[in-house]
Amino acid sequence: MQSSVFTDMQSLGHEQVVFCQDPKTGLNAIIAIHNTTLGPSLGGTRLWNYNSHADALTDALRLSRGMTYKSAISGLNLGGGKAVLIGNAADLKCEAYWRRYGKFVNSLNGKYITAEDVNTSSADMEYIRMETRFVTGVPEFMGGSGDPSPFTAYGVYVGMKAAAKHTYGSESLAGKKVVVQGAGNVGRHLIDHLAEEKAQIFVSDINESNIQKVAQKHSGVVIADNSTIFDLDADIYAPCALGATLNTDTIARLKCAIVAGAANNQLADENIHGPMLVEKGIVYVPDFLINAGGIINISVEIDGYNKQRSLSLVEKIYQRTIDNINHAKQHRIHNQMAAMQAAQARIDSIAALRPGI
Ligand code: NAD
Repeated sequence: MQSSVFTDMQSLGHEQVVFCQDPKTGLNAIIAIHNTTLGPSLGGTRLWNYNSHADALTDALRLSRGMTYKSAISGLNLGGGKAVLIGNAADLKCEAYWRRYGKFVNSLNGKYITAEDVNTSSADMEYIRMETRFVTGVPEFMGGSGDPSPFTAYGVYVGMKAAAKHTYGSESLAGKKVVVQGAGNVGRHLIDHLAEEKAQIFVSDINESNIQKVAQKHSGVVIADNSTIFDLDADIYAPCALGATLNTDTIARLKCAIVAGAANNQLADENIHGPMLVEKGIVYVPDFLINAGGIINISVEIDGYNKQRSLSLVEKIYQRTIDNINHAKQHRIHNQMAAMQAAQARIDSIAALRPGI
């Protein structure tokens, strides 16, 4: 396994990967630090029952690289990092588990700053905060910015409107058929915005209780079957569950004009599926560009939290989406590539100011 770790790190450009384990609490963690040119690496902690350690490592490597690009394209002075914790959330989550993890995060002396992600909450961040100051997304009463999900959802919403403006000539989503995959923290907030704008909403989730939360709040939302959402006659697909849902099979089935959602790493293989979406005439808003609302909010927390400032920074995702679409068209490249180039250009320009890093 060791040689493949280094090969993978090299091919994706990682600086450091740290493995942590603690038998007493059952903690098995991988912290991947991709790039710290712009600042300390920041990215959430994901707790997931991976099929294998290799799958967990792949996720950590891909997600942390995405965080580098996300902060860079969003104009933040942060690098990219991510932690994955391996195991069943219901069996593991407790104060001792989070505090042990917090100690590991602290041992990196600020090179990695953590936050929430799938299966981790601001209450968990509170325990981590007891062991380290290198944690964000802590509750408001502790001076933090709380749950980043509403800001992520707001960013997805404004990015979706920008893509609609490009595609339909109007940013209005009224009457547009939007399929939201995943009714979790982000998906539900996104549905609130879409419902307010009178979009026709379809939602799917493997978790029945999350579906019920949506159904109780919005009677007009149609519950869709997980296996058939890609075949729906929709205008917009919003992936808000896990990554890699855009693959050769699903793209062939999609009938929508726009893909705009919160999930990280939506393209199973960016080199294959980025161009495939272009060929199909689907406008794809790059994941790390459109789902940056949460990290933008967190970055404001680091400087001293101000909600209005945060919202105004998140709104810049609208123009960034337009710029990305135009840049991709002008240079005849797919949208993910255009976003990666823009992010890398910023990293390179700052690195050039500081020789030696
Ligand atoms: P969450 O865990 O609250 O919600 C995810 C939802 O997706 C859950 O309800 C889960 O049951 C559902 N799901 C999982 N697999 C599914 C499938 N195959 N089909 C349908 N539903 C499925 O997570 P979240 O915080 O809402 O984040 C959603 C996505 O957005 C994740 O990929 C996350 O990494 C990404 N993201 C989140 C934030 C944030 O601020 N929370 C920021 C950036 C990116």
